[in-house]
Amino acid sequence: MYMPFMMGGYAAAVLLMLAGCRVVTWSVPGLRGVRFLTWGFGCGLAGVILMALRPFAPAWLTILLANLAIYAAQFLLYGAVADCLGAWPGFRRAGLALMTVALCGMAWFTYVDPDLTARILISSAVPGSCTAASAALLLRHLRKAPRGIGGSATRLPAMKALAGIQILLTVQHLLRCVLTLLYPPAQILHLDLIQAAYTYTNLILNVAGGCGLIWLALCIHREDLEARAETDGLTGLLNRRAFEEILTRELRRARVATTSLAILLTDIDRFKEVNDSLGHQAGDEVLRRVTRALRESLRPADVLSRFGGEEFAILLRDTNLGVAEEVAERLRLHVAGLTGLPSGLHITISIGVAANDVNERLEELVRRCDEALYRSKRAGRNLVTLSREYQTAAGMAPADAVPGLSLTS
Ligand code: GH3
Ligand code: MG
Ligand code: MG
Repeated sequence: MYMPFMMGGYAAAVLLMLAGCRVVTWSVPGLRGVRFLTWGFGCGLAGVILMALRPFAPAWLTILLANLAIYAAQFLLYGAVADCLGAWPGFRRAGLALMTVALCGMAWFTYVDPDLTARILISSAVPGSCTAASAALLLRHLRKAPRGIGGSATRLPAMKALAGIQILLTVQHLLRCVLTLLYPPAQILHLDLIQAAYTYTNLILNVAGGCGLIWLALCIHREDLEARAETDGLTGLLNRRAFEEILTRELRRARVATTSLAILLTDIDRFKEVNDSLGHQAGDEVLRRVTRALRESLRPADVLSRFGGEEFAILLRDTNLGVAEEVAERLRLHVAGLTGLPSGLHITISIGVAANDVNERLEELVRRCDEALYRSKRAGRNLVTLSREYQTAAGMAPADAVPGLSLTS
């Protein structure tokens, strides 16, 4: 196979990938990693065009500069993976050092001691190291990636595919080194079977790697958008929409498993006065401190959300009304004991508590809980009130009919 001819095909494929990168960038601006990928393919294109000039141009251009461009391309492709994952590119220093040593080696085996086999070994060692570093980075992130609710489930298949491609690329570079040592090529202008097969697989795997990276970048972008749509900017908590989605799911699960779950609606007492007397910034600080206090008093499995302005909703899985009341009381005491608030403020919260009844819908459960919260407010604030209907259904008197039964202060 005539090498310049092969490199022409290589250049055409890389050009198409570059066009793909531009289209993706125009369509979805700000995709992580794609800028590095574009630069990587740009360097790769320069490298293969220079290599294709081998019969017509001097060695410093078609060997040294061409290989330097290829090394830069591989290094940038590693950078693209790291950027996409938001990871620190740990291979940066080692990679640059490797590229410098490799370039010196190339110069030596071109001018001082011309040796084609040695040059081929070097030109596979550098990309092989970059792809091995990419694979290691992806595997590390795959192990760390959270799964399940709120986890990064969308990106996992893309990460696995990209890690697989990087491993295949590393293996093919290694294989080329071994086969080149066993069957050294006589010359490079007309590729033997080993070098031609390597060139083909390298092209295919690099194109697949580029596609895999764009897939991963799109998944991460989608997850970011979803997280932003579900998160409250001030407190970093889930917003009402996200909470209601989780509650719907959990109610279904509780119905099937015949387990109980409880919700708490929490409202900061006389919060408007904080804003009016100290300003909105102080109000925001109070919201953040209350958020932290609530989070500290809950289990990791409990779902805490900002339900409205100064209202928080909490979902307690596998929890009955009695335990939920204890949790609510703990939250109330924690917030009441907060110190170091703006202007030495003391803040209290009122809480309504409700546990799910069989076949109860979300709207009904939330309405009962809201009613309990309202009764906490009416009874003087800084109180926990259990939902009326549930108590009635269980054969107990409504809370406000028996003072002190469920109003705890
Ligand atoms: P109550 O004890 O009856 O709950 O009285 P309240 O003053 O807390 O209740 P009200 O609903 O009258 O006031 C809620 C206030 O919360 C009004 C609004 O200005 C404030 N608020 C809502 N969201 C934010 C926010 O993001 N930041 C700040 N600083 N204030 C907010
Ligand atoms: Mg309030
Ligand atoms: Mg309110």
